[in-house]
Amino acid sequence: MSERDGHLDQLFQILVGYADRAIEEFDERCRSWPLDPNQNEVHEVVGGLLSRQTTLAVEIAHGPPMWTPHIAPLLLRPMVDLRITFAWILQEPVTRSRQFVRYGLGQVKLSMEHLKAKLAATGGDPESNAQVKMLQQWIDGQRFHFLTEVNVGNWAEKDLRTMATDCGCETLYREDFQNWSSATHSMWHHIQPFSLEPCRNPLHRGGHRVPRASLPFPPDLDYPRAAAHYLDDTFEVFDTFRGEKPNCASALEWFESELAKLGDRIKVRPTTPEDPPMVSNKSPSIVDSVRNSNQES
Ligand SMILES: [Zn+2]
Repeated sequence: MSERDGHLDQLFQILVGYADRAIEEFDERCRSWPLDPNQNEVHEVVGGLLSRQTTLAVEIAHGPPMWTPHIAPLLLRPMVDLRITFAWILQEPVTRSRQFVRYGLGQVKLSMEHLKAKLAATGGDPESNAQVKMLQQWIDGQRFHFLTEVNVGNWAEKDLRTMATDCGCETLYREDFQNWSSATHSMWHHIQPFSLEPCRNPLHRGGHRVPRASLPFPPDLDYPRAAAHYLDDTFEVFDTFRGEKPNCASALEWFESELAKLGDRIKVRPTTPEDPPMVSNKSPSIVDSVRNSNQES
């Protein structure tokens, strides 16, 4: 095995180890959170959101092909969104968990009504339609005692920026959320550096850029690291809410420490697209890809 392959193999072992430890951290918190039958909705909403955050961090850790500026932001922005939503709900867990559930049910009810109208308009029978029945069963199956009617308004009745301000996540919103949003919405400040490249035709003047699909970028470890930090931060919010710490080690601390050890073993040199993912010391809250790319062009 070459030195490079050896380092890659060690890196994948670290990622698998991190993912296992992240799931253990999640399971440990679930085990030590006794169910309050009067607050089923809080358990389902808070537990479900924590499960989703863990799943995203684990899936990203397992998927180096996703660690590019094309794909990773599409996974990291929802993690920031979830982190803010999570903290906001935990400020008033009962009321806001109910709001969250009501909104989701309302969205499905709305889809179902659109489907029924479409079926009726084309001569179908909405009541015997399998898809309509399935959606109705999904709504009916959720027997939360507070569900007397389904509300189709905005779930939180405020935008994410205001929610972030409410729960002390202004910086996370202003820096991380906005950063990942340029890719999610395919905006110019993402398109210019990542979907165009300098024209190499010597007859063309003016230094314009030309489109190129699937521009190759080396997998960047900062993406799974950012995901691991978002998950750890979300765990912390949960621990503050519960007022207790889990009886297991921190997956993030282990991950960072193993990456640092691997980094010491790898000689640092400038990256090329053919290089294996390099351990980097960039702050996970700041991804510099856009800025670096602009400086190079
Ligand atoms: Zn040209």
